[in-house]
Amino acid sequence: MVAPPRRRRTAWSASFALVSALVLASAPASAQSFQELSPQVRAFTASDATHFILRDVTLIDGTGAPARTGMSVVVRDGVIEAVGPADQVGEPEGAEVVEGAGHTLIPGLVMLHEHLFYPSGRDWRGARYNTHELSFPPLYLAGGVTTMRTGGSVDPYTDLGVRDDVAAGRIPGPRIDVTGPYLEGPGGFIRAFPELTTPQEARDHVDFWMDRGVTSFKAYNLITREVLGAAIDAAHARGAEVTGHLCSITYAEAAELGIDNLEHGFFAATDWSPGKEPDQCVGTPTSVFLELELDGRPFLDVVDALVEHEVALTSTLNVVERSVPGRPLPPDGAQAAIEPALRADVMASVAAGAAGQRRPAAWLEKIMAMEKAFYDRGGLLVAGIDPTGAGDVVPGYGNQRTIQLLLEMGLSVEEAVRVVTLNGATYLERADEVGTVEVGKRADLVLMSGDLRSDPETVRRMRLVFKDGVAYDSPALFESVRGTVGIR
Ligand SMILES: [Zn+2]
Repeated sequence: MVAPPRRRRTAWSASFALVSALVLASAPASAQSFQELSPQVRAFTASDATHFILRDVTLIDGTGAPARTGMSVVVRDGVIEAVGPADQVGEPEGAEVVEGAGHTLIPGLVMLHEHLFYPSGRDWRGARYNTHELSFPPLYLAGGVTTMRTGGSVDPYTDLGVRDDVAAGRIPGPRIDVTGPYLEGPGGFIRAFPELTTPQEARDHVDFWMDRGVTSFKAYNLITREVLGAAIDAAHARGAEVTGHLCSITYAEAAELGIDNLEHGFFAATDWSPGKEPDQCVGTPTSVFLELELDGRPFLDVVDALVEHEVALTSTLNVVERSVPGRPLPPDGAQAAIEPALRADVMASVAAGAAGQRRPAAWLEKIMAMEKAFYDRGGLLVAGIDPTGAGDVVPGYGNQRTIQLLLEMGLSVEEAVRVVTLNGATYLERADEVGTVEVGKRADLVLMSGDLRSDPETVRRMRLVFKDGVAYDSPALFESVRGTVGIR
């Protein structure tokens, strides 16, 4: 089965020059102005200024270029109008001045494994989830996310409605790309997932949900190659993309089928699983990961297949790190965000390990090293939080944590910022309008107090999050939903 040609995404290595050219050639789609926001949304804004300057910041612009100190960024009508050394940019007449000394400025985050649902216990069959349309959109925005793709939906009409509410200025939140209901085979552990058994069912599923406005799909553990291949072909025929949290299908097989993206780094890869039969889900034992040699062909063949087929890899270390003992607890704010009666359960799960499973610290180090190897070999590494697991990955706080985990993986601060900004935008084919701090792009920006280069805790001190040049008060957004995660 060979997928038909699809839209080619900007290659990782070539994106630098191409992005600059695109910026010069096109203005972004119309920005959402302050005037379009409802009173409920305006309550979280810090200013109604449409022309302002962020003066004298340390700028990490998302391209991967070295951080620059003493920079100023001018915004007018939701668009970045000027970027340069503070003494050259000066203070444009009529522009409101935001003093940025002592602050780091990065692009708004573009993250790809987000959800609007949260784990809500288990029944005899497995995991249950409930949609958090009230608390999650403001939490994501508070944590610097201005564009996100959901990585699968259990309640697609609600997800689509939330997307539209944000776009209309009725609720605070990031721009949302909605992924349809999962592409899963029969017998999965989550009752809310459809069970697709034939290629025709997969095509019908794709067409039905595309007609309702989703822009991508996510395959899951038990789907067969034949059914996934049909879904990918149907999605590509209509310009949609397909990602996967796979098990029955190996990464190399999925690349061959034409999949666009794979979730959870190599955590979900079964390419090296002993006893793996085609179309059967047999997970990879911890020991196999520990013994896998990163300079050996078994690993490199899979990496090269992904790079060659332009399959992006999503790092979700927030939800993965919980399998290992001794990791930092969720920050105080994340714990306080959880409904008090539920919080004790969540923290007990954190103590026990995700799904009661404990792996050695070396396993997490290996998972990180595998993602780094993919990145170093030219793969498009993107990131997301996946707010599931033990319930401790809270949107906003989790997105901030992602930057710290990418630093721990061994990326430079500029590379880590690029993975959560430009790389996400590149995957979504929207790098001409978001993902970097460059003239002509949407003014999606995060201003944090401190120097991110020397102190990773700076990500916890987001002060203002700008979306389309509207300044949102990050602490106020966080505070507004305190104690509600788990119920709404
Ligand atoms: Zn997920």
